[in-house]
Amino acid sequence: MKQNTLMPEYMSKFKCIGGDCEDTCCSGWTVTVDKKTYKNYQKVKDPVLKKELSSSLKRNKNSATSSDRYYASFILNENSCCSMLTEKKLCSIQVEMGEKALSSTCQTYPRNLNKHDGNYELSGRISCPEIARLALLEPKGIEFEEADIEINDNWLIFMSGNQETNIYTQYFWPIRMLAIEIIQNRSLSIGDRLVVLGLLIEALENDIKHRLGSSVLEIIDSFRSKLSNPEYINSIGMLKVNLDLQLQALFELIRSRLKFGISSERYRMTFDDMINGLMHNSEEFDLDIFRQNYEDNYKLYYSPYMHKKEYILENYLVNYLFNSLFPNLFTNKVSLFDEYALLCVIYGMLKIHLVGISGKHKLLNDEIVIRTIQTFAKTIEHNSSYTKSLVEELKNNNYYSLAHISLLVRD
Ligand code: SF4
Repeated sequence: MKQNTLMPEYMSKFKCIGGDCEDTCCSGWTVTVDKKTYKNYQKVKDPVLKKELSSSLKRNKNSATSSDRYYASFILNENSCCSMLTEKKLCSIQVEMGEKALSSTCQTYPRNLNKHDGNYELSGRISCPEIARLALLEPKGIEFEEADIEINDNWLIFMSGNQETNIYTQYFWPIRMLAIEIIQNRSLSIGDRLVVLGLLIEALENDIKHRLGSSVLEIIDSFRSKLSNPEYINSIGMLKVNLDLQLQALFELIRSRLKFGISSERYRMTFDDMINGLMHNSEEFDLDIFRQNYEDNYKLYYSPYMHKKEYILENYLVNYLFNSLFPNLFTNKVSLFDEYALLCVIYGMLKIHLVGISGKHKLLNDEIVIRTIQTFAKTIEHNSSYTKSLVEELKNNNYYSLAHISLLVRD
């Protein structure tokens, strides 16, 4: 059924490039199968496909993951790819039975479908290289459009905002629009845009804590006028930077990803290149060496490229905000500041990857940047246990304040 849907403009240009894709949806992570699809696979008659399916599928018995949506999953082969993937990088289920036979996860990816208050929103996941190119390499920034889109009944709706509401739900749109406006404000560096967003979130959290509600629109108006005030903009640029704290804290958080296991060979290469670019031959983390290499790479390779193409990072953040339905005011369970802190940590860690990789290659170009961000998004963003642990780590290390977070994101 066609639905009026809000989406970034790049979505209308997206087309999966199939076997030409340098990655594939099915590598490096668990491919889940919903209950209905699992039951359909039990009825397959073709003996070859039936045998393949029975040796490739496993039921999820863990109570935390065994909902109808995540009823079963495909076993990964020795290359960490879905075992139904052919040598030509095509899905054997799709080849034999057609797209409709795919599980909801496979039919949906790389789309991200949200529905809140009856409104549909469709966007793309940067972990798909083709989406990454379309979304990130757009110099004018991400723009949005409404279109009548055929919504497939089997697509997963990742977030739905109509189960639980609070008095702030009505402010979702104005806050979200201002958040995107701040991130797209090119009179500030990206790090400073994140600081301004933090100031907004802090003011809103204060309002939420005291259940004032009525002052949300005033807060929004005051931030909008601050953004057009050159003195305010200059004052943000004068805030302190503490590179040692930034590098040490963010590198620890990056390293903690290893504890969750890394099955994507492409990300493993990204990680190794980053380490090589920042630590050269040293085995142990030495802050002096790390800082020196970071500063050299930043000046020689990262900054000349990003000076012209900072819109790539801007587009990454805007896409993240839109995908994640930021600010999540549809539930009382998520704190705005938690969401904001996670966004900043992800940005900070991404920047360290890019600076490290620029040192390994002695340059940055579109190809290296897209590969780095795509592999980063696939391994970092898509592991919810890890992303949850990032905010916990900030809290445990007493970095959970706007003053500390601004030290993690500013250049
Ligand atoms: S990652 Fe994207 S382009 Fe590659 S196969 Fe999957 S949907 Fe297609």
